[in-house]
Amino acid sequence: MNLISSFMMLYVLFFVPVVPTFECKTERAPQKMKDSKKSLFGVNLRLEAQKLLTVVENYYGKPIEESRASNWPPGKIGHATVKSDGTPVITMNSSIPINEEDIVHELFHLKLNAEGFYAYHYYESDTRDKIERNKEFLEFLSASVYDPIQHQLFNPEIRKMGLEPSLIIKKAVESRVQSKSTAGLSEEADRAVFYFRAALELNDKKLLNKLDQLYRKNRWDDSLNIGIDLANIIVKAKPKTPEQVLSAYVNCINRLLHGMASFKVTKRTSEKRGKIDYYIAVYFF
Ligand SMILES: [Zn+2]
Repeated sequence: MNLISSFMMLYVLFFVPVVPTFECKTERAPQKMKDSKKSLFGVNLRLEAQKLLTVVENYYGKPIEESRASNWPPGKIGHATVKSDGTPVITMNSSIPINEEDIVHELFHLKLNAEGFYAYHYYESDTRDKIERNKEFLEFLSASVYDPIQHQLFNPEIRKMGLEPSLIIKKAVESRVQSKSTAGLSEEADRAVFYFRAALELNDKKLLNKLDQLYRKNRWDDSLNIGIDLANIIVKAKPKTPEQVLSAYVNCINRLLHGMASFKVTKRTSEKRGKIDYYIAVYFF
């Protein structure tokens, strides 16, 4: 099986079709940066979170635009992005209750983007066709591998605020362990990244051991080993800078694909988006 067909198979098996997202946007009225805002999405923020909000809005020189997505799956909580004019946007899933942890989480992603961490991943290959056919798989890599690496940079800060950043992954692992359900984990890469995120973010060794046992019982040893290797890459490298995070990401995705494809960074670039430089990493595979 050549690379393209391997990828095609991964692509077909990993993903449910993505329904276009229709978001209703409610732009906040511009206000002076010095104003201390106390809430986002109608959720009252504690003092430390209000300070973070002020830091982020000062970086961008604009208030956060609040957006709600009405057709995301329940597992997708929120997303942060920066418009081409430099407006920072947080989108939250309108079908589930919005909590302070999740808002703070997205604020930290925006903070990292403003501080020079790579915010966008652009993939190149020898043919355009290969990119097109693997588009969703490449998005899966950014969301399932790059994102948890970034969480390592700010989850300790969220804990210092008295908030618990691992509630979502904890719930996901608990329900997995209790129900022993294998839904959504039929493929090696899905299982590996699920374990990877649990190992990095769970902060609960007992529960992680139960997940280990579930993997072994299902004879998912290969996926478990890849997940453990990915977590070890991050634990050993302790990436702190944008370059270190980028390098750890490439090492992780190459381990995840174990020879089916090999990625290397070919270019680092940035574009002006309002007040900030928006950093883009270009990979060849
Ligand atoms: Zn995140």
